[in-house]
Amino acid sequence: MRRVGVVGAGTMGSGIAHVCAVCGCDVVLYDTTEEFLRRGLYRIARQMDDAVSRNRLSASARDAARARIVPTLDLNAFAGCDLVIEAAPEDLAIKQEIFRTLDALADDAILASNTSSLSITELAAVTRRPGRVAGLHFFNPAHILPLVEVVRGEATSDETVAALVAFCRRIEKTPVVAADTPGFIVNRVARPFYGEALRIVGEGLADVATVDSAVRDGGGFRMGPFELMDLIGIDVNFAVTRSVYEAFFGEPRYRPHPIQRRMVASGRLGRKTGRGFYEYGNAQRTPPPLLEPQQAPAGPYAVCGGEMADELTEHLRGRGHAVLRPLRGQPPRGVAAVFVVEPDRGSMREWIGAVDDGDPGVPVLAGCLTASRAEVASWSQLPQRVHGFVALPPLRDRGVVEWIGCGEPPATLWALGLPALRVGDAPGGILARILAMLVNEAAFAYAEGVASAAEIDTAMRLGTNYPRGPFRWAEDIGVGLVAGILAALHGYYGEERYRTAPLLRRAALAGRWPSEIGGGEG
Ligand code: NAD
Repeated sequence: MRRVGVVGAGTMGSGIAHVCAVCGCDVVLYDTTEEFLRRGLYRIARQMDDAVSRNRLSASARDAARARIVPTLDLNAFAGCDLVIEAAPEDLAIKQEIFRTLDALADDAILASNTSSLSITELAAVTRRPGRVAGLHFFNPAHILPLVEVVRGEATSDETVAALVAFCRRIEKTPVVAADTPGFIVNRVARPFYGEALRIVGEGLADVATVDSAVRDGGGFRMGPFELMDLIGIDVNFAVTRSVYEAFFGEPRYRPHPIQRRMVASGRLGRKTGRGFYEYGNAQRTPPPLLEPQQAPAGPYAVCGGEMADELTEHLRGRGHAVLRPLRGQPPRGVAAVFVVEPDRGSMREWIGAVDDGDPGVPVLAGCLTASRAEVASWSQLPQRVHGFVALPPLRDRGVVEWIGCGEPPATLWALGLPALRVGDAPGGILARILAMLVNEAAFAYAEGVASAAEIDTAMRLGTNYPRGPFRWAEDIGVGLVAGILAALHGYYGEERYRTAPLLRRAALAGRWPSEIGGGEG
């Protein structure tokens, strides 16, 4: 595909024209007024100069690329194009009108839309060539971000999909093929990253900075959910949330949060207005309330539980602490603290009962991935000595531990050697809860045929900068544990929002994803 038309010279259209021209395509760039065209060309020129100053593009390649972009106010200029990419405002009526016109003009072209939320099938329906209509969803900034979702409408032909996949590779992008479903891959699977973070803050379990730190420092994400909403624009993020929620006819997993509406109503839209969840400009960022690790008693420590206890034992021994592993049902004695880490709630309860028969003054540190601290404490005769913490395995990947409580953590928590974040009491704390919901969403999307597991993982890494895709995350954490966290949240809140995807439930029973998923992209 040598000759490419781009409709709309706004944020996305100019980025798309830029990348196509740099990769050797002749580009026809259309907008409705001289002024919009001029602004688009100016933006492209600036972006290209920036690429030259960063040594990503030579000055001669820039000049050649600029010369390949022909601006026009006349849609007839699209005649002879092999592909036309529409990047006009997100309005079905406007886009359908454009598709009708293009259908009459560009006989041989594949028609693609950069829409984020509209149905490709509905756009294709107004043309006489629905087989040659598809989505080509770039991410902002389009000239930099590598991902493109190639969206297959109900009638899109295999040839069209194959041609667009080849085109994406030609313009040095990474294509993933997605079905024409609300939010495609990225805008759907990413919903819980924001939605669950908003719920946690809305319930008063943690503040914004604590949630961001748990996700960033605990999970290795480049940015926390609130920092990312500030970057995207809280209004834009709210609009995407509403559109996915409405397109799924009110599915509770996508329900917008009143905090979003409140932020938008008050004009706190994020970085672009200087204020969002954080203050920008000269204001000093309040540091997240990280509690720095203190000296821990030497031990010995008792660690009770199954597989997770093995990992914790290794971690504590690696930090030079003596560790005892009591047999099942045997009360630990003569220790500085007892760690009980057991995702199975029945076994957790048994262990708590056994620990009660040991020394009464010893603190009990209960891993609260699948039960709240209050629940675990209620299983003990000595509830006041039960402390809760949340740390997902593998511990070597964690930069913080979440500490459930309001006072000071017991000194024995510092045996983990990690800074702590204080969080309110609910199963799964912050990071584990958000990750479990991301994995669940990916499992629903895969089962509904949105995309392959490998494509979902690739899309989430490249489209949102997550350190790992959700299928891969689940492998690292353990599919059984992810399902356990969701079951605990479902039981705790009694809400449909937390129901486990059947695929994840099956994977938890088998102990791994089915072979056709094979752990995502690896
Ligand atoms: P934008 O407002 O920056 O640009 C839209 C351009 O279309 C403007 O230059 C406008 O003059 C022009 N236009 C208006 N009416 C037109 C018409 N009838 N025919 C042709 N051009 C017309 O918007 P944008 O952010 O570039 O978004 C464009 C599309 O890309 C939307 O569908 C949006 O959902 C999608 N998208 C946006 C982003 C993003 O982050 N901005 C990311 C992915 C996809």
